[in-house]
Amino acid sequence: MGTYARASEVCACDCPDAAGPWTFSRVLGPQFLPLCFFLLLWLAAPGVRAGGYETCPTVRPNMLNVHLVPHTHDDVGWLKTVDQYFYGIKNDIQHAGVQYILDSVISALLEEPTRRFIYVEIAFFSRWWHQQTNATQEVVRDLVRQGRLEFANGGWVMNDEAATHYGAIVDQMTLGLRFLEDTFGNDGRPRVAWHIDPFGHSREQASLFAQMGFDGFFFGRLDYQDKWARMQKLEMEQVWRGSASLKPPTADLFTGVLPNGYNPPRNLCWDVLCVDPPVVEDPQSPEYNVKELVDYFLNVATAQSRYYLTNHIVMTMGSDFQYENANMWFKNLDKLIRLVNAQQAKGSSVHVLYSTPACYLWDLGGLACPVGHDPALNAPAAVGHSGPATFPVGQPSNATSVCNQLEALVGPAANVGPYGSGESAPLNEAMAVLQHHDAVSGTSRQHVADDYARQLAAGWGPCEVLLSNALARLRGFKEHFTFCRQLNISICPLSQTAARFLVTIYNPLGRKVNWMVRLPVSEGVFVVKDPNGRTVPSDMVIFPSSDRQAHPPELLFSASLPALGFSTYSVAQVPSWKPRARAPRPILRRSWSHPLTIENEHIQATFDPDTGLLMEIMNKNQQLRLPVRQAFFWYNASIGDNESVQASGAYIFRPNQQEPLPVSRWAQIRLVKTALVQEVHQKFSAWCSQVIRLYPGQQHLELEWSVGPIPVGDTWGKEVISCFDTPLETKGRFYTDSNGREILERRRDYRPTWKLNQTEPTAGNYYPVNTRIYITDGNMQLTVLTDRSQGGSSLRDGSLELMVHRRLLKDDGRGVSEPLMENGLGSWVRGRHLVLLDTAQAAAAGHRLLAEQEVLAPQVVLAAGGGAPYNLGAAPRTQFSGLRSELPPSVHLLTLASWGPEMLLLRLEHQFAVGEDSGRNLSAPVTLNLRDLFSTFTITRLQETTLVANQLREAASRLKWTTNTGPAPNQTPYQLDPANITLQPMEIRTFLASVQWKEVDG
Ligand SMILES: [Zn+2]
Repeated sequence: MGTYARASEVCACDCPDAAGPWTFSRVLGPQFLPLCFFLLLWLAAPGVRAGGYETCPTVRPNMLNVHLVPHTHDDVGWLKTVDQYFYGIKNDIQHAGVQYILDSVISALLEEPTRRFIYVEIAFFSRWWHQQTNATQEVVRDLVRQGRLEFANGGWVMNDEAATHYGAIVDQMTLGLRFLEDTFGNDGRPRVAWHIDPFGHSREQASLFAQMGFDGFFFGRLDYQDKWARMQKLEMEQVWRGSASLKPPTADLFTGVLPNGYNPPRNLCWDVLCVDPPVVEDPQSPEYNVKELVDYFLNVATAQSRYYLTNHIVMTMGSDFQYENANMWFKNLDKLIRLVNAQQAKGSSVHVLYSTPACYLWDLGGLACPVGHDPALNAPAAVGHSGPATFPVGQPSNATSVCNQLEALVGPAANVGPYGSGESAPLNEAMAVLQHHDAVSGTSRQHVADDYARQLAAGWGPCEVLLSNALARLRGFKEHFTFCRQLNISICPLSQTAARFLVTIYNPLGRKVNWMVRLPVSEGVFVVKDPNGRTVPSDMVIFPSSDRQAHPPELLFSASLPALGFSTYSVAQVPSWKPRARAPRPILRRSWSHPLTIENEHIQATFDPDTGLLMEIMNKNQQLRLPVRQAFFWYNASIGDNESVQASGAYIFRPNQQEPLPVSRWAQIRLVKTALVQEVHQKFSAWCSQVIRLYPGQQHLELEWSVGPIPVGDTWGKEVISCFDTPLETKGRFYTDSNGREILERRRDYRPTWKLNQTEPTAGNYYPVNTRIYITDGNMQLTVLTDRSQGGSSLRDGSLELMVHRRLLKDDGRGVSEPLMENGLGSWVRGRHLVLLDTAQAAAAGHRLLAEQEVLAPQVVLAAGGGAPYNLGAAPRTQFSGLRSELPPSVHLLTLASWGPEMLLLRLEHQFAVGEDSGRNLSAPVTLNLRDLFSTFTITRLQETTLVANQLREAASRLKWTTNTGPAPNQTPYQLDPANITLQPMEIRTFLASVQWKEVDG
């Protein structure tokens, strides 16, 4: 229960409404009184509400104030597509039409000035807004100004927290909040974050929300055991410390658990979608129910208040797609408020009012008791029975970054050029939609998932035009650029048919990268030349396969890529040479008498000749050897059992038995060794294979797995894992990233903030892995990086596993009503795990930089050659860097994007945590000079903003909470010197830069 506070602290509150909770104690019970020992330190002058809270309703200090929050929860795609939800199409699937909800709510708000409403999903709101007349827009502006329509969260969507990458979260929040800032200014800025439906919560999300400037955060779903523990400890509302690196209170966030998820209390749902009886006031009517209803409401309110510390409680009055006929809700709420408050004349201490989450938060200020708290993890999964599902939907690609960066580097010439009009906005919007908690998480219906893919593809089209314009401008040469969208599955018509072509490779990182280019080609011998016309080593890998379509020959060469720039290589087939005569021959054998190895100067991997499985990894530099046995297994998906009817499905991972079954105990193997690559090809079954690969200079082992279509003819749903077993003594601990940023320690069968009753030994230990998972014995560390979000765990000491694919026959009964049973292309998945073995001390330097490169991989653009001069009038430029000097390794260029005419958005991030790297000192603060950093533009003015760029940093302020770890320390005085931008470990700094683009010179 924490410690007790001094009374003087309580009295320090300047809130005009906070006369004191004490007269209210007869309702709450005296046992709660001494607990109110924390307070909100107001930034405004005494008696004045802080900015954004001026329009909040008046409350009764001596009563239990029940804040009714009318709201709708509008999924940006779930059972229906985004457009079907917006327009109200296919109401036979689900009755839902967002356009009608907003129409109806605005009318209802205008009818009665005390009514309030919050809206959340800006993907929908912005679309509705653009379809309104000027007169309606003016009316809505007025409602926003008066606080009667308030925005909460304000992201383009309400993003998932488990499967999302932090960069994509920041981007989608920026997009939504920018619309609000541009449309409503300060009046429309959300003060609270609102994640009522995501299926569990991540610490990084709390950290990001704090850095975005939110005063508080409310969520609905959490583990039932966690919720019970919080209720018992009166910790439903507390301050969440979101970062172990950032100096408090930078990542501290007031966090409240809503009492009923996001639904109204039972029997009090007055939507067209509900069946609860309306308020009947006519005493002559046989349906008269006022007394019963008022008594019931008072009981519900009093019961709820027992689990909260102040004389304010909140009730969410709404749910999925409600308020299509807002009159029903508001008419009954009007009556409820009037009737319940009328009881005050008879001694009732309950005061009901229309409110909003922000106003509720404000009223907590005087009395609230948030507990300084540092959970390493909040609920891994919210729904019922098990731990988190795996996350089969891929992580955002690098495409958005590449498109945004080139638009910023080239300026308006990227938008309008020889290839037409190109823009980044459609892709940015599609990517934002993809972060919705039913999209990237994999809990939408199949036709909705297909529509998400359609949106991505549609967004990429204008980006290809933009990239062509930009590359032509930067190269000074027009080419017929080709973007091989299926390069990941070795399909590229140009390289497979042309005898000569150009390969331009763009590197979105702020540092130089060497990257192995791998292109499908026709058979023959090719000469590859670098940007200076020098021949570089290249290799052909030819697979002895009858199916040339599935396994075309591949041309390999190592490309050297400048920071934030490109290199152009030329490839030409050599006609006079006999095909294959000079091509390096792969070594292909099917049986082995001794352990088989692949190695380069850094790593050696050894394979068991009997089983064909990986058996040892050696880090030659550190003289480390670790037996590592890697293989694929599958869990038999539960279809319900004696303990529970819960089946495994889109939301729930619930294996039927704890022990997974091997896909195969051995693998058929082949060895491919050329000068540029060494590969072991493993075939485990007709539907499961893997290539383990090493390139020269590479410090990690690459495992490229292909799984699917998973056979389910035996009527067993299967959840396939890749499992790594080692003798490391890991003491039940393993480590996973949080949204790709900070690392969290996980302990088997343990939760840091409550005593766990483990009912699901496998699923209950699964956690989201966005970019990496590792195990260590304190000396040696085995890290596996993923190329997409997956579920992962360490169920035995020394082992770790990642779920790579699932195919299920039953729906899990949580809403989607479809089994996870994709057919066609989607039934087959190819992905990569990058494995690093290092000392625990040196490991972070390896996995941080490699993960950065994996998330922002280079973009390959091909051209047939034979283009024409464009703007330079000289020979085409074959190499380019957008930076005058590369960034230090600890600095990640998180965002470089267009923000408006001659304005760019720039985010720089320190990508190491405090104390994470001692060897190369990469955790040390780093200082940059931004003045001359970029080569294509000059920064004429630099302004620093919050993380989402909707407030200037110097003007931004958040409500400050005093916690049981002491008051928030004063921040150091703020100064901005573009020549001296210092980044502390894990710090992200966001800038709006006014720029002037330079003439591109030859
Ligand atoms: Zn939802």
